Amino acid sequence: MLEGLQIHNETLTLRMTSSPSRKRQDFLEWPEYFMAVAFLSAQRSKDPNSQVGACIVNQENKIVGIGYNGMPNGCSDDLLPWSRTADDQLDTKYPYVCHAELNAIMNKNSADVKGCTLYVALFPCNECAKLIIQAGIKEVVYLSDKYHDTPGMTASRRLLSMAGVQFRQFKPKRTEIVIDFNSINHTGTQSSSSQ
Ligand SMILES: [Zn+2]
Repeated sequence: MLEGLQIHNETLTLRMTSSPSRKRQDFLEWPEYFMAVAFLSAQRSKDPNSQVGACIVNQENKIVGIGYNGMPNGCSDDLLPWSRTADDQLDTKYPYVCHAELNAIMNKNSADVKGCTLYVALFPCNECAKLIIQAGIKEVVYLSDKYHDTPGMTASRRLLSMAGVQFRQFKPKRTEIVIDFNSINHTGTQSSSSQ
């Protein structure tokens, strides 16, 4: 026992002299990590006006689905319109585009998304609220609620509330998260450890 303790102390001292002994303090918390995944996914969107991402997380904090707004599979995003307004509604994106929530649910890599939490950049519209409810998602965490006063969002809140789906706004502690591909070459120790 005593011998083991001595070895442990020796290891501890060695670590303190060669690299920081305490864990990082500015690591991403789970909610900001999942919201950041949603925002990163949104960067895949071809929509010139609105890039929305969604990330579905199970009760073990594992990501089980990611999606962003885009045209349906097999439907060319070069041929379909991206306009928000046109004389003919068929020349706008609205009848065609799949919202991020729909894609995240359909892209799920688990048997189902029952009891999961959906992280999404924008408060879900009423059509997505229906999907969220039917999929068994129990919580929605959104960042922006910029369409709060539209009928679609009012209907969405009404449906989610009736179905017992919780929703809450995510208030980020920082306004941006930078991904620097070069950081891996500058951080860490010179030991053989790679992580
Ligand atoms: Zn929607």
